[in-house]
Amino acid sequence: MYNTIIIGAGAAGLMCAIEAGKRGRKVLVLEHAEKIGKKILISGGGRCNFTNLDAKPENFLSNNPHFCKSALARYTPQDFISLIEKHGIKYHEKKLGQLFCDGSAKEIVQMLQQECVGAGVEIKVDCTVNEIKKNEGFDIKTTIGVFTSESLVIATGGISIPQMGATDLGYKIAKQFGLKLTRTVPGLVPFVLADETYSELSGLSVDSVVTCNGMSFRENILYTHKGLSGPAILQISSYWNDGDEVTIDLLPGTDVEQLINEHKQNKTELVNILAKFFPKRFAEKWCEQNFTSKPANRISEKEITAIGEMLHGWKVIPKGTEGFGKAEVTKGGIDTNELSSKTMESKKVSGLYFIGEVVDVTGWLGGYNFQWAWASGFAAGQYV
Ligand SMILES: Cc1cc2nc3c(=O)[nH]c(=O)nc-3n(C[C@H](O)[C@H](O)[C@H](O)COP(=O)(O)OP(=O)(O)OC[C@H]3O[C@@H](n4cnc5c(N)ncnc54)[C@H](O)[C@@H]3O)c2cc1C
Repeated sequence: MYNTIIIGAGAAGLMCAIEAGKRGRKVLVLEHAEKIGKKILISGGGRCNFTNLDAKPENFLSNNPHFCKSALARYTPQDFISLIEKHGIKYHEKKLGQLFCDGSAKEIVQMLQQECVGAGVEIKVDCTVNEIKKNEGFDIKTTIGVFTSESLVIATGGISIPQMGATDLGYKIAKQFGLKLTRTVPGLVPFVLADETYSELSGLSVDSVVTCNGMSFRENILYTHKGLSGPAILQISSYWNDGDEVTIDLLPGTDVEQLINEHKQNKTELVNILAKFFPKRFAEKWCEQNFTSKPANRISEKEITAIGEMLHGWKVIPKGTEGFGKAEVTKGGIDTNELSSKTMESKKVSGLYFIGEVVDVTGWLGGYNFQWAWASGFAAGQYV
């Protein structure tokens, strides 16, 4: 008999286990993969962007944008930084408040494992959950036996990257207990474009402002074989719905009219003017598709205006996204109306908790999703 069983040894589950263990609770973590923290290991290109210095509730998407506030306020980026400093893990800010390990994401997993050991947490890997029954507490039937606990925490994450072991068990458990879910869609995911000619630009990236549904992000966009990716595109993808138009300013902050006029005297070709700002291959393709290059002195005022509008307001309607197989996160999940924002416990089923990505709280790209995992895991860890 355990005080609490946590399903999922990822970021949220391990943080919850540590906190509950430190309170003297008897904690068991069940993980179906062969090792813990697999998503942490691949995160941030292997260096784990473990938090963001500027993490605020505004950086998270949810049907209820207020839900995340309480947990985020009680476990801040500074709290996680203190933890990694205690373990002597070296880190740096890459850009925009994003903190990465200097070494490798392995250090974060090792740290969580050591903390679990210190807090007396038991972890079982290679364990598949087959059935859950609720009576006084919870009976959890698994491939390695039946375990019972007073409370049960679901920390199974989202369904993105199924090849890494992501499953929909969390959503199934929610349904079993009559909890509502919001629609789950891929988030932080590349776009697929109908126009395949852009694949010629694959590998090129351009500093841009990308806008959709009232949100804008300024970062690089990256041309891919299938369409568009890069940080600005991943960010906006979480705000995009099927059929929505995305506007891309390819030359943010540059006055195109002034730029072309400046080159009129020396008769510079448009393609060469653009090549000062973009990779040459991009400038050539842009002219081929939008405006046949000619010397600046032969471009009329009307044409200059049109060129400016095209460069500042490229309109794209993506055909779709690259789906859960390429998405960094799952947007949507357990409806936050079902949970207490203080404890993460179900309002309907006492003793049942949901934390991390399985909940309908999705962060921006840049360490925000881990901060939500730590914060929601910490919150539940105080009560389970
Ligand atoms: C490629 C990639 C890179 C990323 N990089 C970053 C980054 O740098 N910074 C950032 O903030 N976010 C990043 N993310 C997002 C981040 O990894 C997740 O939001 C975060 O891991 C969610 O934590 P979690 O504990 O809720 O879920 P997870 O970390 O996914 O953990 C869930 C755990 O549950 C286990 N599980 C699933 N189903 C079952 C089952 N049926 N039975 C038992 N166990 C089960 C899984 O194996 C896993 O161990 C990245 C995501 C991806 C895919």
